[in-house]
Amino acid sequence: MDRRVACLHARQILDSRGRPTVEVEVTTQGGCHGRASVPSGASTGQFESHELRDKDDKRFQGYGVFHAVRNIKETIAPQLLGCDVFEQKLIDHMLIEMDNTPNKSRLGSNALLGVSLAVSRAAAEHAHLPLYRYLGGLSYILPTPFINVINGGCHAANSLDFQEFMIVPVGAANFFDAIQQSCEVFYCLAQLLAVDGLSTSVGDEGGFAPELSSVTKVFDYLCQAVEKANYRVGDDFKFALDVAASELFHDGQYVLPGEAKTFSSDEMVAYLASLARQYPLVSIEDGLSDGDWTGFAQLVKAVDNKTQIVGDDLIVTQSSRLQQAIEHQALTTALIKPNQVGTLTETLECISLAHRHGLKTMISHRSGETEDAYIADLCVGVGSTQIKTGSLSRSERTAKYNQLIRIAEDLATHATYAARL
Ligand code: PGA
Ligand code: ZN
Repeated sequence: MDRRVACLHARQILDSRGRPTVEVEVTTQGGCHGRASVPSGASTGQFESHELRDKDDKRFQGYGVFHAVRNIKETIAPQLLGCDVFEQKLIDHMLIEMDNTPNKSRLGSNALLGVSLAVSRAAAEHAHLPLYRYLGGLSYILPTPFINVINGGCHAANSLDFQEFMIVPVGAANFFDAIQQSCEVFYCLAQLLAVDGLSTSVGDEGGFAPELSSVTKVFDYLCQAVEKANYRVGDDFKFALDVAASELFHDGQYVLPGEAKTFSSDEMVAYLASLARQYPLVSIEDGLSDGDWTGFAQLVKAVDNKTQIVGDDLIVTQSSRLQQAIEHQALTTALIKPNQVGTLTETLECISLAHRHGLKTMISHRSGETEDAYIADLCVGVGSTQIKTGSLSRSERTAKYNQLIRIAEDLATHATYAARL
């Protein structure tokens, strides 16, 4: 069958915040088809590739992506027609060359990523393989889900300084049990909040966004919810944080208005390390700001392998920044968000750089998502042992868990559940 690109189409659709985003469709001469859409962050790292939005256009209050769509139709499509969709590296390289800026600001990383992912889907269809198998190796692992049940920071209108409080089903026997147990804890958490008169409305990533301001209060609720669901804190469930500390960093200090605290870098490290001693905290993401290499390295030492230190804004899925982080010994886990870099090939390179250095990877959604579950397939395909894709509500979040359920069923006994954290 003829694998050459016959048609490349793009359109503007809506993400989970109702903001426009890019969707791309690729059709080959042989009649195969790939479609992909692009997510969008709120606590966007300053070193991420450039997401092109129509800032000077009043439509959609400047959030439109008409320019990015036009770039795909008018600049990218004519040059990709006739390319073999199996040549992912070549196509991604062409995209990078066409853009020809260091941060993909001319055509837009959102334009590039939509094309890059859609091409891989068309290729998977040609190969008669599910996407995760097309992207993947020979053995498969189902990832440990990091489930964001309490939203704060810039993802919610409450007073919580930290952005994400996650439950991690470390004791589950398989992926299905992990989801079931996490749902039970999620329901119990809702009940506990409701009894105390707190809101159970959800934030951007589907977690509850109660009007709390204290980190320890949140952890106390999480412990109670685990126990109410008849699981054991520490054995069945551990916890994880995304501090998103770049958002808290002002004039050289970490400002936590909810807690009424202001910390130096050293004090922030000490504070986070004390939380890790107090609670079964398996993971701290972006505990320091994206320029604080020393703080990150100190935190790695302070938690002494008991808690993984995850870099998100720190490395923004870019191999060059990950390389720097490795040299500084600033992290033990690399967070991976394809839209931070802008092509599939660069995403895969960053993942493989992390794995080659013995680091773990956690594949991640963005706070603005679509129903596209690409990251679920990516996670299993590349052998990443962790995924974070929000809470157990809102369809753009559950779409990823549901796809993992399908993959787990497809693989049956041929895959293991990661956990052991
Ligand atoms: P974002 O949040 O998509 O708003 O950047 C997710 C994260 O910080 O991990
Ligand atoms: Zn983050």
